[in-house]
Amino acid sequence: MQRAVYDAEHEAYRDSVRRFVATEVVPHRERWEAAGRVDRELFRAAGKVGLLGISAPEEHGGGGNADFRFNAILNEELGAADVLGAGLGLSLQADIALPYLVDHCTPEQAARWLPGVVAGEAILALAMTEPGAGSDVAAITTRAVRDGEHYVVNGTKTFITNALNADLVITAVKTDPAAGRKGISLLVVEADRAGFRRGAKLAKVGQHAADTAELFFDDVRVPAANLLGEEGRGFYLMMNHLSQERLAVAVQATAQARRAYELCAEYAKSREAFGSPIGSFQHNRFVLAEMKTETEIAQSYVDRLLLAHSRGELDAVEAAQAKWWTTELCQRVVDRGVQLHGGYGYMAEYPIARAWTDSRIQTIYAGTTEVMKEIIGRSLGF
Ligand SMILES: Cc1cc2nc3c(=O)[nH]c(=O)nc-3n(C[C@H](O)[C@H](O)[C@H](O)COP(=O)(O)OP(=O)(O)OC[C@H]3O[C@@H](n4cnc5c(N)ncnc54)[C@H](O)[C@@H]3O)c2cc1C
Repeated sequence: MQRAVYDAEHEAYRDSVRRFVATEVVPHRERWEAAGRVDRELFRAAGKVGLLGISAPEEHGGGGNADFRFNAILNEELGAADVLGAGLGLSLQADIALPYLVDHCTPEQAARWLPGVVAGEAILALAMTEPGAGSDVAAITTRAVRDGEHYVVNGTKTFITNALNADLVITAVKTDPAAGRKGISLLVVEADRAGFRRGAKLAKVGQHAADTAELFFDDVRVPAANLLGEEGRGFYLMMNHLSQERLAVAVQATAQARRAYELCAEYAKSREAFGSPIGSFQHNRFVLAEMKTETEIAQSYVDRLLLAHSRGELDAVEAAQAKWWTTELCQRVVDRGVQLHGGYGYMAEYPIARAWTDSRIQTIYAGTTEVMKEIIGRSLGF
């Protein structure tokens, strides 16, 4: 499929990303999945070649480039190499958490945190979800009480990506429980603070290299100087940043769907049944035709949003549309891909089988399909 979204500079960048994925990721995937987390060295290696801080200011080691298409390329190349779904935490760092720091740090905070984050020395987590509050972020109960020049934080977060490796946790807290969403603030909590504790890695059905876990805050004293943005503005900061997060997931879902189609097309040529390649049976040809068609249509829409975002014009409703539709599509494509592979499609050594379990989360995190439809529905003015 011809794509008009990238220019020569992007494609040159893609070459270096492809080399990075081939040398620093692919050889380690199985080991990281078995260990249940990636090596911290992955982040340092990504930092070294400039993958983690594209949008960060140059004075702090970043690329000074707000063009999200560069971020998209990393996701696409990880997808093409069958390692995106392992759950590496790079997207969480570069696409999702870093923008909070880039957009809302004071100059002092930026100097304190950004160089380490961009270099991959400091790993980020973003902790919104709690055992009792996921989709309904405003219902969080983690409390931060001001005490002189500190906040004292108490509460529990769950399902947090990068939880075991994280050095800095951007944490959603209630600073004014009576004020609803206007009482939410963001605090950056260093993982070596007294009273901060990580739970055991949660056993997931997929994304086995992702160190998803609970985080516990017991009277953690956090300097007021770690407040990100204004007190009481945290909910709005999160809502603003979710559009890019949703576009990132749409890029990933589309990359995984495209890769699933390629895997199936190759398999349908080489696998024979009843004396013919399985792709020669009309049903399977139609399945492949549908996969190809739907994936290319999804790609066109995602590319349009990537271009819009590169101009600073990403629309929240369109990001929600892309998120729910591409992630549901990815699941359809991958599920049919498993079927097309027969018994081999159920074997973990086959990328299509891993894609099936790894991609299942996509319709849930970064806002569920149902929440996306709520956002879209509310915009219709009924
Ligand atoms: C692998 C993984 C990684 C994650 N990483 C992070 C992370 O790094 N940081 C973080 O903060 N969180 C993270 N999450 C949490 C994730 O964002 C939440 O699981 C998600 O937002 C859904 O919240 P919930 O699980 O509480 O489900 P609930 O909100 O309880 O939803 C349950 C069901 O009800 C539906 N529902 C809820 N509200 C509505 C409504 N208004 N209308 C219709 N249906 C509705 C939902 O769509 C869903 O089907 C992660 C989760 C997983 C599994």
